[in-house]
Amino acid sequence: MPELPEVEALTDYLRERAVGRRVDRLEVAAISALKTYDPAPTAAPGRTVTDARRHGKFLDVVLDGDLHLVVHLARAGWLHYREAFPSAAPLRPGKGPIALRVRLDDGSGFDLTEAGTQKSLAVYLVTDPQAVPGVARLGPDALAADLATFTERMRSRKGQVKGVLTDQTVLAGVGNAYSDEILHAAKLSPFAITNRLTDEQLATLHAATREVLGDAVRRSVGQKAAELKGEKRSGLKVHARRGQPCPLCGDTVREVSFADSSLQYCATCQTGGKPLADRRLSRLVR
Ligand SMILES: [Zn+2]
Repeated sequence: MPELPEVEALTDYLRERAVGRRVDRLEVAAISALKTYDPAPTAAPGRTVTDARRHGKFLDVVLDGDLHLVVHLARAGWLHYREAFPSAAPLRPGKGPIALRVRLDDGSGFDLTEAGTQKSLAVYLVTDPQAVPGVARLGPDALAADLATFTERMRSRKGQVKGVLTDQTVLAGVGNAYSDEILHAAKLSPFAITNRLTDEQLATLHAATREVLGDAVRRSVGQKAAELKGEKRSGLKVHARRGQPCPLCGDTVREVSFADSSLQYCATCQTGGKPLADRRLSRLVR
């Protein structure tokens, strides 16, 4: 799932490539992906791309006259920039991976795609990004929050730190992958309870958040959009690395599975050497 660093890199790429170009066509192939009906997609052609912005994990393509194409890539969505399209024929609505296509006046443009059968990519055409419920609910940006803001936000919600850190209303931008990385860098258990964290632990967590996200942004920005996913993988220390050695201590990276997700962590670095109970497994055994 694209998180803050990947969306930041896509935003940066679009800003460089698409700003100043006029929208020729906006083609919607997956009707269910478009969550708004007013303004209609026909409002976009003829307008110029003036900016690309990021709101948490949302991408905002700004068109002149205050029109915003706001995109949430969800789990399996991605933005593919095309220097040219193979055909001028309009996209046919159907079951393909392309949800939406934007053609620009120089023949380039981008496709929003979504792999898999669970379709949750969401696109909003709005005159104000705050009209998108997920954007309106966002907490402060995880990369921009200073220590006081970060501490206040983390303490505003009592719960397991992994869940609170990925709650977009608490802080915007961190998802499953980078929360694993941040907690590893901060040497904190994903199940530590937020209101029991000391000031010192929160300061460490804040520093780790900035460091992990900042590093990932630096690695990602400037990469071609197509290469971003591989770049993300190469920078990860525990996430999606179950069974491999922790690069810090050499212990084996472990996993806790849930119904539709999992987390990875290093017991030596994060939980005093004690493995966490795997909830799914313990339920099966019972
Ligand atoms: Zn370790």
